[in-house]
Amino acid sequence: MFEHIDENYARLRAQIAEAAVAAGRDPTSVRLMAVTKTQSVAAINHVLALGVDLIGENRVQEWLEKRDALQLDGVEVHLIGHLQSNKVRLIVPGVQCIQSVDSVRIAQEISRRAANAGIVQDVLCEVNIGQEESKFGFTLSSLEEGLADIARLPHLRVQGLMTVAPYTGNAAENRANFDALHTLYQKFRAQERDNIQMRVLSMGMSDDFREAIAAGSTLVRVGSALFGQRSVR
Ligand SMILES: *Cc1c(COP(=O)(O)O)cnc(C)c1O
Repeated sequence: MFEHIDENYARLRAQIAEAAVAAGRDPTSVRLMAVTKTQSVAAINHVLALGVDLIGENRVQEWLEKRDALQLDGVEVHLIGHLQSNKVRLIVPGVQCIQSVDSVRIAQEISRRAANAGIVQDVLCEVNIGQEESKFGFTLSSLEEGLADIARLPHLRVQGLMTVAPYTGNAAENRANFDALHTLYQKFRAQERDNIQMRVLSMGMSDDFREAIAAGSTLVRVGSALFGQRSVR
């Protein structure tokens, strides 16, 4: 039933390794996340059985509905979709990392809930690299100030940056966008402080993971190239 997923997975692993080697990088320096939005529990358990050890969900509600039926031993789960304040209590604690911290306000709410739970929550800051109106995230210019505020929150640990790059259909443009985020990542990496560390650069999806790896991505988030096209919702 899931033969197409087996083939996609094998091809994807090979393509990721090839892109890393072409960039002079160690293939093990790029993690693969399976993006599981809209996918069935059976399909997700299938990719987990193949050896995927990192999954990403966009919506808190959808995640809570599927969670108990998944084989999550040894698997990390990250939230990758926009998080509303009133949902924070449902997901903290509950996932290893929230990649979609797109404002200081949501960071404050996460830190507050993490404090209540007695944990330190790992997060990434989401950057709207294409400065698109339709997307969430810090802009290139607001990130520095945002990180300065977030650095003061005791129950958060910023592990890096994440972006959903604009769809361009053009490898050179993709590469330029990813290079811009990599430059910021290096800049903040050189000035690590308090609870800000730069270890994870989450960029690249089904259509652009090669360019993202060439530009230094350490984590690619892949949905359709693994599971097949999603039905629209
Ligand atoms: C859906 C989604 C992905 C994966 O997209 P594909 O193009 O299907 O690989 C990655 N990151 C985020 C934040 C997403 O919402």
